[in-house]
Amino acid sequence: MIALEVGGTYIKGCALGPDGVPRDRERWFTRPERGPDAVLESVLACAATLAERCRATAVGIVVPGTVDAGQAVYATALGWHGTPVRDWAAEHLDLPVAVGHDGRTGGLAEAREGAGRDCRDFLFVSMGDGIAASVVRNGLAVSEAQRGADMLGHTPVRLGGDSCHCGGSGCLETVASAAAVARRYGRATGWRGISAREVYHRADAGDPAALAVCGEAVDALADVLATAVGRYAPERLVIGGEPAEAGAERLAPLGEALAGRLTGAAVPELRPARFGDLTGCMGAALLARDLLGAGTGWWPGPDPHIERAEKIRAHRS
Ligand SMILES: [Zn+2]
Repeated sequence: MIALEVGGTYIKGCALGPDGVPRDRERWFTRPERGPDAVLESVLACAATLAERCRATAVGIVVPGTVDAGQAVYATALGWHGTPVRDWAAEHLDLPVAVGHDGRTGGLAEAREGAGRDCRDFLFVSMGDGIAASVVRNGLAVSEAQRGADMLGHTPVRLGGDSCHCGGSGCLETVASAAAVARRYGRATGWRGISAREVYHRADAGDPAALAVCGEAVDALADVLATAVGRYAPERLVIGGEPAEAGAERLAPLGEALAGRLTGAAVPELRPARFGDLTGCMGAALLARDLLGAGTGWWPGPDPHIERAEKIRAHRS
């Protein structure tokens, strides 16, 4: 089974065994500046590369933006508008393909097999190149709440802030996404090509510029999440993506910032996503599994992550 998460910076891919455990993972640069067709060709090439390495029976692909009936209706980060991802991928790969929304399917993965499994009601927040959320109740994404949650990353938080690929400016994504953290640190220090992960590590080591950038990201996220908590009243917040990779400790400043904003209201429990940076891929894998009508019982062990030996390479289209 192949699972792909297509983001504005990386296409993340996993080849999973029949037990749902990732056997192989890799990521490629998306380079959306090449245009929407080139991005789609890269996605198909990445899926084909992984399919060669395992006996793939189905493919799950998750994308940002608005997704409907296998189409990327509106994914500005990729330049896709009305792109029939499912049909083109199925034809190219000659395999059944399911396509879903990254945040929503990530929430599904955490609800079924992850940090939301023992919780009836939680908000999953996916912190990657983009920021999206998923309102999960009784193991199902709440569709009427979903549109607002999908757009969480485009909530304006800074008047006159950086311009955003959505056409607005000062959106949460321009301050707190992984891409924004890397970009803002680069702007403050002159260091270029540093990943958000490295900025978080530098903040842990006490680098003042990294601390400032990460602090601004936490403040902006807490502003938006305080409103979301008021609206959806979740029992728990499950945070996926880069900030979750380092575990609960990395989330402590966010918990404190939220508590400061939610005076008089219950502060939901904060937990890192079980699947960390792989939550979107695990959601894609679940879509593929559902497509095959396979049973439950995946990922019985404590942690499905394989060795963190990702090979990062620029994808040549
Ligand atoms: Zn925006």
